[in-house]
Amino acid sequence: MSPAAAATALGNGGASGSGKILGMAQVIPLGEGDAAASGEAEAMAVRSVIEAGRRAAERRWVPSTSGNLSVRIDAGRIAITRSGTDKGNLTPADVLIADLDRPDPSASAEAPLHYALYRDHADIGAVLHVHSPASTVLSRLAEERGEVRLTGWELQKALSGVRSHEEEVVVPLLANDQDTVRLAETARRAFAAVDGKAAPGYLIAGHGLYAWGATPSIAWRHLEALETLLSYQLDYERLQP
Ligand SMILES: [Zn+2]
Repeated sequence: MSPAAAATALGNGGASGSGKILGMAQVIPLGEGDAAASGEAEAMAVRSVIEAGRRAAERRWVPSTSGNLSVRIDAGRIAITRSGTDKGNLTPADVLIADLDRPDPSASAEAPLHYALYRDHADIGAVLHVHSPASTVLSRLAEERGEVRLTGWELQKALSGVRSHEEEVVVPLLANDQDTVRLAETARRAFAAVDGKAAPGYLIAGHGLYAWGATPSIAWRHLEALETLLSYQLDYERLQP
């Protein structure tokens, strides 16, 4: 497996990184004219998107064609699900190769949120967005707070860079907005406000959860950890007197 392929494989381990937001950078710039390597990286990214869709559907996190999933190919391109596709049964034709500087209208309406994350953070290798139940319910209960603070949970350590249950992790919570270019800007400001404590993901109220990571496998680990932590938090808030 080439380095580019290793960087994009969904199942290649799950080592924690240590960088500011995500951990180690895994983006492998591809040389000009290296068509074979580029094709291989593209195919691997498409396979990783399909696999992430299958896993998200198994957990019932992407009902009725909702959600969208993307994997970085190189500095300027990503593989991302097309609008309206069944995420549990994706084929390569359902995955678009998108140029970050020339958005394709057949990508999801939420693609601008993915583009903004990849453009702003060279160390992001995959972005996964789901409409998972616990996160979505909690996002409405907590909407006025504008964030969900997690502390005291052992599972926090599944998030890159978090070393202890005693640390505080902040999941920014944005009001839903059908203008996703504006929403991407709102997300950028929310992250700037919680620098250093921000989770590798955010919530959109009444809508769902975004999570990312340096590789598809790390993004998946973050997504699963955040959905589980937010389900703990939902029950905890319900049960508190
Ligand atoms: Zn959505």
